[in-house]
Amino acid sequence: MSTLTVVDHPLAGHLLAELRDVRTPPERFRYLARRLATVLTLEATRDLGVRRERVTTPLREADAAFIDGRVVAVPILRAGLGMLDPVTDLLPDVSVGYVGLERDEATLQPTSYYLKVPELAGSPVLLLDPMLATGGSAAFAASLLKERGATDLRLVCVVAAPEGVERLAADHPEVRVVTASLDEGLDERGYIVPGLGDFGDRLFGTE
Ligand code: URA
Repeated sequence: MSTLTVVDHPLAGHLLAELRDVRTPPERFRYLARRLATVLTLEATRDLGVRRERVTTPLREADAAFIDGRVVAVPILRAGLGMLDPVTDLLPDVSVGYVGLERDEATLQPTSYYLKVPELAGSPVLLLDPMLATGGSAAFAASLLKERGATDLRLVCVVAAPEGVERLAADHPEVRVVTASLDEGLDERGYIVPGLGDFGDRLFGTE
C-alpha cells in the first residue's frame, strides 16, 4: 500500500460536502476546491524539513524554524489547475511544473502531450490531481516525474477510489497520497462513486 492519509478534519468534510453537491455552481466550486486544497496541502507538507535559526523579535531573541528548501508543485492538466493557487499561496519557495495527459485511443494507455518541469531532484514534489480514479494517469505522471529525477512524490487529491490507491501503490509504493475521502469505488465509466462528477467540468463550467 502507498502511504494513504485521509484528512480527518471537520473543515475538510464540510468543504467536500459542498463540492459533492450537484447544485454547487462553478464559481462556488472553484472557491471550495481552493480552500480544500489548502487543507490537503497543509497535511501533505506536514513533514517538510526546517532550518533552525534565531530571530530577534521586538522583545528579545527567539528560536525560529524556516522551511528548508524548495517544493515543486505539478498539476495534471486540466483539473489539477484548480488546486494550484493554494499551493503557491501557502509555500514560501515553490516552483511549478505541468503535466498534460491524454488517452491514446488505440492503446487506451495514457500519453503525455505536455511536460514542463523544473529541477525535481532533492525537492518534495506535490502532484496535484483532484480525482484518483483508476490510478492510470497518476501512475503514469509519477513515472514521468521519476524519470525526470523526482524522488519524493506526494499525490494530493480531493477524492480517491480504492482501485486508484491500489494501482498507485502497486506501481509506485513510495508515493504518498493525501486525500479528503476514500470513496466506495468506480462505476462502469470510471467515475468515482459517490464522488463529485467530472472535476474539470465542474471547475471550468464545461458540463
Ligand atoms: N475524473 C473526474 O473528474 N471524476 C471522476 O469521478 C473520475 C475521474
